[in-house]
Amino acid sequence: MDKKRIYLASPTMHGWEQEYVKEAFDTNWIAPVGPHVDAFEKEIAAYTGAKNAVALSGGTAAIHLAVKLLGIGEGDIVFCTALTFAASCNPVVYEKATPVFIDSEPDTWNMSPQALEKAFEKYPHPKAVICVHLYGTPAKLDEIMAICEAHHVPMIEDAAESLSATYKGRQTGTFGEIGTYSFNGNKIITTSGGGMLVSENKDYVDKARFLATQARDPARHYQHSRIGYNYRMSNVLAAIGIGQMKSLDLHRKLKKEIYETYSEAFADIPEIAMNPLNPDGEANYWLSCLLIAEGCPITPEQIMHALDQENIESRPIWKPMQLQPVYENCDFFSHKEDGDGSVSADIFERGLCLPSDIKNTKEDMELIISVIRGVFGK
Ligand SMILES: *Cc1c(COP(=O)(O)O)cnc(C)c1O
Repeated sequence: MDKKRIYLASPTMHGWEQEYVKEAFDTNWIAPVGPHVDAFEKEIAAYTGAKNAVALSGGTAAIHLAVKLLGIGEGDIVFCTALTFAASCNPVVYEKATPVFIDSEPDTWNMSPQALEKAFEKYPHPKAVICVHLYGTPAKLDEIMAICEAHHVPMIEDAAESLSATYKGRQTGTFGEIGTYSFNGNKIITTSGGGMLVSENKDYVDKARFLATQARDPARHYQHSRIGYNYRMSNVLAAIGIGQMKSLDLHRKLKKEIYETYSEAFADIPEIAMNPLNPDGEANYWLSCLLIAEGCPITPEQIMHALDQENIESRPIWKPMQLQPVYENCDFFSHKEDGDGSVSADIFERGLCLPSDIKNTKEDMELIISVIRGVFGK
C-alpha cells in the first residue's frame, strides 16, 4: 500500500536517548547491570515517589516476581482484573496458583469493587489481588484498597499502561504492596523491552533483585539456595529509559491532546463515547478508545475495516480473560447484578482502541476522524 501507515502507538525517540546509549557503549557497560540501570531505577523512584525500584527485563517479569514475593503458589487463589492483557495474570499460573477473574465497572472500565466483594464472599482467603489501570485510567483505588485491607489481602498494582497517571495526586503503581511498570515498545515510554518493580518495602525490592539475578547467594563461588531468574534489564536499554524519562510528561501531554481531539470530534455523534476517565485522578491517556452505544448496529470491526482501508492501525479492546480459551475453567465475578453477561464483555464487543501515536500529525488525526465519522454517516 502506498498510503502512509498511521500507527496505534509506536516508540517516540527524541535523540537524547542515543547520547545515553553512546555513554553506555563508551564505558563498555553492555551488561544486565551498570550505572544506567542504577540511574534509571533512581529516576523511576524519584518520579513516582516509590521508595524502592528494580529494573527488569519486562513488565511480565515484574509481575512474576511480585507473585513470587507474596509467596503465591499452588492451591492459592488470586483475584485478577478480567479486562486486561494476559500478561497481568499469566504469572499467577506460572506459579501454579489459580486466577479468579473480576469484572470491570462501567465508570473507569477497571476492576469492579462490587464484583470484588462478591468474589470475597465465595473465596474469603485469596492470596492477593492484581489490579490494573486499563489504558492509563486509574482504577477506583480507594474502594478496591478498602476491600483488600478489610480482608488483609495484599494488592499487586499492574501499572504497565499507566506510568505517570495519578490517583488523588499520587502516582499509580505506588498504591499496591508491590507495583509494576512496563517499557515495552508501545507503552507511554519505552526501552524497546523492559519493566520495573517498585515497593515501599525495601525487602521486596532487594529480594526481587536477588531473584532476577539467578538467586546467587552471597558467596564467592556460585551457590544457590533458591531458584532464580535471568530477569534484569540491560544497561543499554536502561540508557534508553533515562533518555525517555525526560519526555514522559511531554508524552502524557500529547496523549491527552489526542484524547481531547477525539472527544471533541465525536461530540455530535451520540452513538460514540470515549473511554472513561476517573474524576479522582489524572489518566496518562496511553490509548484513546471509543465505545459504540448499546443498540447501535455499527460494530468495531466495521470501523477497523474502514481504517484499514486507509492504512490506519486500530485494535480491539483486550479480550477479557474469562472469555479466553486458556482461562475458560476459571471462576469469574460479574459486575452485573443479574449475572446476565458482564461489563468487560460489553466493552470488548462495543469498544475499539484508536490510533494514539503522539507522532501522528494534525492531518493524520483529521483523516482518522473523518473515516470514523464516515462510518457513522457524518
Ligand atoms: C504491556 C502490559 C504488560 C506486560 O508488560 P511487558 O513489558 O510487555 O512484559 C502487563 N500488563 C499490562 C496491563 C500491559 O499492558
